[in-house]
Amino acid sequence: MGRRPGLLHSRKTFDIEFRKTQLKRFWALVDENEEALRAALLQDLGKPLVEATGIERGVHLPKHNSSSPFSPIPHGTCLKEVILTPRFPAVSLFKNEIVFMLEKLDEWLAPEEPYVPEHFRRLSPTIYKQPKGICLVIGAWNYPFFLTASPFLGVIASGNTGIMKPSELAPHTAMLMASLVPKYLDQTCYRVINGGEPVATELLKMQYDHIFYTGGASVGKIVMKAAAEFLTPVTLELGGKSPAIVSKKADVKLAAKRIAWGKFACAGQTCVAPDYALVEEEVHEEFLEAMKQVIQEFYEGDPKAEHKMGRIVNKTHWERVTGLIAETKGKVVCGGGSEAESLYVEPTVVSNVSLDDPLMVQEIFGPILPVISVQSLLAACELIPKISPKPLGLYIMTEDTTEMEYVQLNTTSGGMAINDTMMQIGVPNMPFGGTGPSGMGSYHGKASIDTFSHRRSVVNVPMAADEAFEWRYPNGDQVAKFK
Ligand code: NAD
Repeated sequence: MGRRPGLLHSRKTFDIEFRKTQLKRFWALVDENEEALRAALLQDLGKPLVEATGIERGVHLPKHNSSSPFSPIPHGTCLKEVILTPRFPAVSLFKNEIVFMLEKLDEWLAPEEPYVPEHFRRLSPTIYKQPKGICLVIGAWNYPFFLTASPFLGVIASGNTGIMKPSELAPHTAMLMASLVPKYLDQTCYRVINGGEPVATELLKMQYDHIFYTGGASVGKIVMKAAAEFLTPVTLELGGKSPAIVSKKADVKLAAKRIAWGKFACAGQTCVAPDYALVEEEVHEEFLEAMKQVIQEFYEGDPKAEHKMGRIVNKTHWERVTGLIAETKGKVVCGGGSEAESLYVEPTVVSNVSLDDPLMVQEIFGPILPVISVQSLLAACELIPKISPKPLGLYIMTEDTTEMEYVQLNTTSGGMAINDTMMQIGVPNMPFGGTGPSGMGSYHGKASIDTFSHRRSVVNVPMAADEAFEWRYPNGDQVAKFK
């Protein structure tokens, strides 16, 4: 038996009303500390308002339009109002996730009666969702609040206790979480522990009932090895090179707009960002022109202006990303500039890239889009596994339904979006996770309950049923003979 963290696996958390109260408190934490969270995200990653609001914490945007199906929850709306209006439109992922969880929790936690052959029905086979116990959630820096807090909703909703370890590379957000969480959540059940590698290493020496890790694959292996010591189950949310395919049958301008949005959000530091584009040769030039145009329109010619484009997280990563631009053997179509002082990298598009270009042998995690011309969709589908088998996301831009189906059937990835990028993670109740080298396990909505619960199969064998089971006892054949 390993050393356990100083957290009870408290029976308190077995109570579903307790869990709901804690989820509402987490909602309030975000709602009541919007400005502080926004400031922390700005300091850590220069996050523009639209990114901080839409994904990380979810506050109102200045021009809120309540009739739009994609409007965020307006500031000041109380949670009760939101729940009373179940279809309240919201894109703010974190708040939205809580609202949806609260609506569905009773249903998701209800015991399930699986279909069984008729002669087993007398045993009342039932699957109960039991909390696993004590969980550790290790978060990454690129969406430093969301990627730590959002899995933790599953920890709470499933009745566990747990520890959040935000990334030290986003220190302002990590410190803020450590100061706010004890004010809102029950401290005997949930903790935030901050620190870098040494702290993470110490945490991993202890025994948990589930470990949930988001980040790069090399640390993912360390986490998995540490978990193996106690046979602790793990969820690994990793990354990789997610392709965007552009067919000659695409609306090329819209494809460029949606790829640019996915690529340049958070300055390209998003796990499901389109890493590179494979463009059918017939529309290759048109796509490059459309990318130039859309970058001009998005940033009105000045992406460096504050609140337009996020910044690279730190100097080490800035040097790595700018190094990739310097080393590119392809042609820089637009962008290419950078500024060390503000950790800025210009939205950059590179064409004529070859597969041995440094841009193509590692996950870029920066605002650079390499564009490769391909002869056909078949060629694109054959190329993808050679670049990165089983990526986290995969995108196909086409108006032809046969092509949509073709790409879906002939590729594999954690998730996929047709005619958009990244949207597969924004839809409530869709499991989010990788496959193979892009990760294992999933979360969001019911998938979070499945991840952090033990599905316990229980049968209740009636005393009176013993006659039916005589055959299984050592003297079963004798009993059968005298019948
Ligand atoms: P990171 O450096 O922030 O590390 C992630 C976490 O691991 C941090 O909390 C860090 O403290 C911890 N850590 C570092 N060293 C450790 C060790 N030796 N033992 C245990 N924990 C340790 O993040 P990163 O790795 O730079 O993240 C970038 C990668 O993460 C990219 O590949 C990206 O695609 C991936 N990512 C995936 C998702 C997803 O949801 N699938 C989301 C974000 C990022």
